Amino acid sequence: MTIFPDMFLDFKRESLIGKAIKKNLLEINTYDIRDFTKQRAESVDDEVYGGGNGMLMMAQPIYDCYKSIIADKKDVTTYYMSPKGKTFNQDMAIEMSKKDEIIILCGHYEGVDERALQLINAKEISIGDYVLTGGEIPAMVIIDSLARFVKGVLSNEDSTSEESFRNNLLEYPQYTRPYEYEGLKVPDILLSGDHKKIAKWKLEKSIEITKENRPDLYEKYLKESLGGYDEF
Ligand code: SAM
Repeated sequence: MTIFPDMFLDFKRESLIGKAIKKNLLEINTYDIRDFTKQRAESVDDEVYGGGNGMLMMAQPIYDCYKSIIADKKDVTTYYMSPKGKTFNQDMAIEMSKKDEIIILCGHYEGVDERALQLINAKEISIGDYVLTGGEIPAMVIIDSLARFVKGVLSNEDSTSEESFRNNLLEYPQYTRPYEYEGLKVPDILLSGDHKKIAKWKLEKSIEITKENRPDLYEKYLKESLGGYDEF
C-alpha cells in the first residue's frame, strides 16, 4: 500500500526480483492508497492533532485500501515501514519468506494516523536508525531481502548459506580472476586446494572483520555460536 506505486516499476522488472516474478516465484502487487480517498483532490493527508510540524496520512484511505486487499484473504500479516519499528534483520527476512502473503504499508509525510495502524493490526518495522522520506525504499529492502530465501529465487540455493550474519559473523573477503591485479595478489591459501585450511582462513577472517566492524555481533557470536571450522 503506497501513494507512489510507480516507484516499484523498475524494482519489479529488473535483476533477480524481475526474474523471480517472471518465473512466478514471487508476486508483488502495488495498491495506490489515493484511489481509496474520500477527500477532495485525491488528498490523503491532513494536519496533526495537538500541533507539530507537517502532515499525517489519514486513516480512512489506508483502511479502505487495506479492506479491499484483505477481502478474499485471511490471516495475512501486515507490516508498517516505520523508523519507530523493530529493526529489520536477516532472521526476520527468513521468517517473512515463509509466509505465503504479506501486506506492507508505506508511510509518508510525518507518518500515519495511529488508528490506521490499529485497524490494520500492523507490525512496525524499521530498516535502520535514520529517517527516510517514505516507506517505499524500506519496503523494497524488505521484499528484496526476504525474496532471497524463497526457493528458486537464487540460482544457487547455497548462496545464502555462507554469507554475512550466518552464525553472527560477517563474510570473509572474496576474490575472482585475475590472480594479480594492480600488484595485489589473491591470498595463496585460497589456491592451495586444502579445504580444511581454507575453511579455517575464512573463519578467522570473518571473526577479524566482525570484531572490527560489528563488536555487538561479535559478542553474540562468542556467546551463542562458538562455531568450529567444521560448521563453515
Ligand atoms: N515522523 C516520523 C518519525 O519521526 O518517526 C518519520 C516519518 S518519515 C519522514 C515518513 C515515512 O517514511 C514513514 O512513515 C515510514 O513509512 C518511512 N520511513 C522513514 N524512515 C524509515 C525507516 N528507517 N525504516 C522504515 N521506514 C521508514
